[in-house]
Amino acid sequence: MEYKQRTVTCGELRKADDGRLVVLNGWVHRDRNHGGIHFINLRDRYGITQVVVGEQAPEEVVRTAEKLRVEFCIAVEGIVHARPASMVNAEMATGEIEVEVTSLQILSTCDPVPFLIDEESDAKEDTRLRYRYLDLRSNGMQKRIKLRHDFVKAIRDYLCGRGFYEIETPTLIRSTPEGARDFLVPSRIYPGKFYALPQSPQLLKQILMVSGFDKYFQIARCYRDEDARGDRQLEFTQLDLEMSFVKRDDVLLLMEQLFGYVFERTMDVKLPEHFTRLSWHDAMNTYGVDKPDLRYGLPLTDVDDLAKESTFGTFKAVLEAGGCVKALRAPASDTVAFTRKYITELEDAAKVYGAKGLAWMKIGSNHTLEGGVSKFFVGQERALIDRMEANEGDMILFVADQWKKTCNSLGAVRIKLARDLKLFDPKDFAFCWIIDFPLFEFNEDRGHWEAAHHMFSMPQAQYLDTLESDPGSVKGDLYDLVLNGYEVASGSIRIHDIELQKRIFRICNIPDEESEVRFGFLLNAFRYGPPPHGGIAPGIDRMVMIMAGQSSIKEVIAFPKNTAAVSPMDDAPSYVDQNQLDELHLIIKQPEQKG
Ligand code: ASP
Repeated sequence: MEYKQRTVTCGELRKADDGRLVVLNGWVHRDRNHGGIHFINLRDRYGITQVVVGEQAPEEVVRTAEKLRVEFCIAVEGIVHARPASMVNAEMATGEIEVEVTSLQILSTCDPVPFLIDEESDAKEDTRLRYRYLDLRSNGMQKRIKLRHDFVKAIRDYLCGRGFYEIETPTLIRSTPEGARDFLVPSRIYPGKFYALPQSPQLLKQILMVSGFDKYFQIARCYRDEDARGDRQLEFTQLDLEMSFVKRDDVLLLMEQLFGYVFERTMDVKLPEHFTRLSWHDAMNTYGVDKPDLRYGLPLTDVDDLAKESTFGTFKAVLEAGGCVKALRAPASDTVAFTRKYITELEDAAKVYGAKGLAWMKIGSNHTLEGGVSKFFVGQERALIDRMEANEGDMILFVADQWKKTCNSLGAVRIKLARDLKLFDPKDFAFCWIIDFPLFEFNEDRGHWEAAHHMFSMPQAQYLDTLESDPGSVKGDLYDLVLNGYEVASGSIRIHDIELQKRIFRICNIPDEESEVRFGFLLNAFRYGPPPHGGIAPGIDRMVMIMAGQSSIKEVIAFPKNTAAVSPMDDAPSYVDQNQLDELHLIIKQPEQKG
């Protein structure tokens, strides 16, 4: 089909273009017909331009204009006219002009649309995903996809400038589960054998260090066959990075510099030169989570001593059983009243993490305590108010239980309070490092220790003699990067010694014979002069989501799956035909019907 190709985009014409003859290609965003005059908003990736089919337009143009519907793809030729001052639309970048159409061609038509293309679509998520090609036309999605592009580009520019090589690693690898379930790909050539999709390039990047590529990165796709839960996707993208001859602080510093550069370049946001560092224990103890949102304070405060002196039996019993009592100040608010109903809501948030209840009291005038458990703290009013730095109208909330349960439960209340009381600026970015993580976690279901992060992280030197005798107290050289309450990266200094690696495997219930079978290729590589090394892997989807002020990673992924792990647009996953199964030597065993 012959058509007029654009000479300008829909975002670029200004007053200075008055009188130019131009061609625009784009989509009919809106078409308003005022007494025979068509005002068409023509849209492309760059913006919107108003084109007008007026009374003097050639008859053929008028006839074509009558046929236009939203989202038709058209070519327009016309003359740019500066609008009189009173008609300038300050909301539009091209609002100083309009284009008087002299020729009009429909390049393709469009069925009635399931939703109008707007800044953001208000259609249901599955509808948006089914018609993702339309959804992606919205200004909101276009901006976010651009931000993602800018983000990745800035990462590449920065790291390449620092001497990193971008190296691809395979997506068909040996199955080496890293904690989650592997996606498997049956081999046609070797019946019964499978490739796995990488959960991350962890072992391959470590092997690249053995090969001497001392600064590596990759924008890597990772696959984890996990149950659909919350905002998870089966595949996600991370900046995978590894370096040789580095210690922990080298990795942390590099990340601070990288994100400093990237935020400035993509968002014009200046980050602090260094990010706050918190040990895992302090993060848990003070904020109740290992990924604290530091856009607001509200620390959890220890009140064991005051609880012990009180007359409240419940608190005293918990302390006697080795537990603790922590308190949180809820600042008085103009928008949220501390009613019984609201306190119950807060209590429900605490109970999710196992707390049996949430005790409370209010601060009255002249340093008095009112309501709830205040009657048990007679004589301690001043001490408690001072400790909590509380003021009239505030509330003090308490959880008493085992340390971890107390932290987690009151931490959840802290998060809910901050959201409900709007205690932070949603446009802020608060990064922090969590360091000194426990290396192992006890898996109650399986009855053995497991790596808290993955099995390749280095224990801190002072624990080397007590790894086996006291795994629970071992701290690792591992670190998480947290942004606004989300874990956005984790990494570690790695083990590069075969014997130490095997000790870790054994503690994680993987005997030597099994580790040779599963991880033999890594152990073999470690027989050939492995350098000390470490790295990290920031999640790209999540970081861009936070930067874009969104709460779901689907908003920054072009073609995500829905919460049921299905892609409504192409209906993946789908059945395949018998020939394909035969070639792969597969027989499908249908799950038994329930009932
Ligand atoms: N491979 C790790 C992960 O995906 C990150 C790292 O340790 O570098 O979580």
